[in-house]
Amino acid sequence: MMPRHPSLERIARERITAGKLPRICCDFIWGGYGRGDLCSLCDKPIRSSEVEFEVPEVADSAGAALKFHIACYAVWRLECAHGDAERSLNVEQVNT
Ligand SMILES: [Zn+2]
Repeated sequence: MMPRHPSLERIARERITAGKLPRICCDFIWGGYGRGDLCSLCDKPIRSSEVEFEVPEVADSAGAALKFHIACYAVWRLECAHGDAERSLNVEQVNT
């Protein structure tokens, strides 16, 4: 783990725990330049000069597609994977 964005990681963890962000592993995303929409993690607008990652798969459950800066998307994915690793830690120790 390389915590380059500790505060964002904390927000991501809190929002995942609170159910505001889904804990999913999603390989299907849209990428494009931002349109001024707010990022689902840091709540800052994604400017037209920045790349926006959109996660359409969770649109049904969350009501709207999630949108992230590249860095925020990476942090969210990291926190999702981190939670999975914690849950499977005991199993892995038994297997090895
Ligand atoms: Zn962001």
